Amino acid sequence: MGFKKSQKLYEKGLVNLVGAVNSPVRAFTSVGGNPLFIKRGRGSQIIDVDGNKYVDLVLSYGPMILGHRHKKVQKAVHKALKNGYSFGASTENEITLAKIVCDAFPGMDKVRFVNSGTEAVLSGVRLARAYTGKDKIIKFSGCYHGHQDSLLVAAGSGLATLSIPGSKGVPKEAVKNTLIATYNDLDSVKKHFEEHSDIAGVIIEPVGGNMGVVIPQNGFLKELKDFLHTKGALLIADEVMTGFRSKFGGAQELLGAEADITCLGKVIGGGFPVGAYGARNEIMECVAPLGGMYQAGTLSGNPIAMAGGISTLKELKRQNPYEKFSHIGERIETILLHAGKKYNVDVTVNRFGSMMNPFFTKVAVTNFAQAQTSDTSKFAIFFWEMIKNGVFLPPSQFEAWFLSSAISEEDISKIENAVDKSFQKIQESQ
Ligand SMILES: *Cc1c(COP(=O)(O)O)cnc(C)c1O
Repeated sequence: MGFKKSQKLYEKGLVNLVGAVNSPVRAFTSVGGNPLFIKRGRGSQIIDVDGNKYVDLVLSYGPMILGHRHKKVQKAVHKALKNGYSFGASTENEITLAKIVCDAFPGMDKVRFVNSGTEAVLSGVRLARAYTGKDKIIKFSGCYHGHQDSLLVAAGSGLATLSIPGSKGVPKEAVKNTLIATYNDLDSVKKHFEEHSDIAGVIIEPVGGNMGVVIPQNGFLKELKDFLHTKGALLIADEVMTGFRSKFGGAQELLGAEADITCLGKVIGGGFPVGAYGARNEIMECVAPLGGMYQAGTLSGNPIAMAGGISTLKELKRQNPYEKFSHIGERIETILLHAGKKYNVDVTVNRFGSMMNPFFTKVAVTNFAQAQTSDTSKFAIFFWEMIKNGVFLPPSQFEAWFLSSAISEEDISKIENAVDKSFQKIQESQ
């Protein structure tokens, strides 16, 4: 397996792009070597510019839940393209996607579409402040909520991989209303409420996905929500990653905690740039033009992106692959744990629906500090051996792997073989 063409493109890319990537999570900083350039994808697989074929467990960091180039999505997008690209005026598809999304979330009467997860969350947080008239927001360390200033602290994968504590260029004033709590630790939230009276809400990934997969412990979300309501504060669920991944709708429902405000992205665009935030009528009525909270977007509700989202969600509903996801996830978990035993490599596997990943540590991982006990040098060996055996993973210990509904038995065999080879390689290095 050669990477010559990727190497050439990487060198070329360095000239006019920053690190030859448009998102730092795509850089290979923590695993060594250079990023691969992808030529095309089909179903569960992608092919790089050198012609190497991989089972894709990155899936564009989540959106490609049906796999690549699903025929129905392609057809819907082609059809939309014929009518024009963007109008700056309403189109019927916006109403169609809004209904699909609102129907899937019991706590959502209205939704506003934006262009990315980052935009969805920054707007959702603004809405919590507008509705409560309070300024402070609590976030959990290890959770990532996009790259807006105020939430770019203790923010998980991208930063953890590059060992950046926060971000340069974020003024102190921008984070002075951000309080940090510990995932799965309600007391760490309560403590902030004892010290501050102006907390608008708590933002959380209902299943952590940006410090690796971290699952809320029994009752944590429900207790959090009940506590917040005694304080008049809102629960903001950042379901940009989890939305439509574990069920048709949100992970919040599976976990028994209906959020006040929900933020979405990734899957709802099916690979096109769509984000969204939504809530009950009384909360959404704060948003302009009905209310005084301003939020706008030239390309928001873009007709091509809406067509991608509608066709993806319709097909997803039809396929209903969630039981399959859970079953395949369990098999891959077994494969990883078995290899760990066989080659005497410490490994912990966390999994929720179609999101999962191994941590190279022997401790249980229920928060960011525990995730960080992982041996990232082992991950780097693992990563490259998986690549060489035809499985494409995110180049970071702290990213979730994703399953697509297009995954086949052949893909699972390929994963099993690659995992075995990779753990053997780790053992040889110990
Ligand atoms: C990916 C992600 C975001 C940011 O979405 P972008 O589309 O990358 O801006 C926000 N929150 C969570 C939980 C995410 O996984």
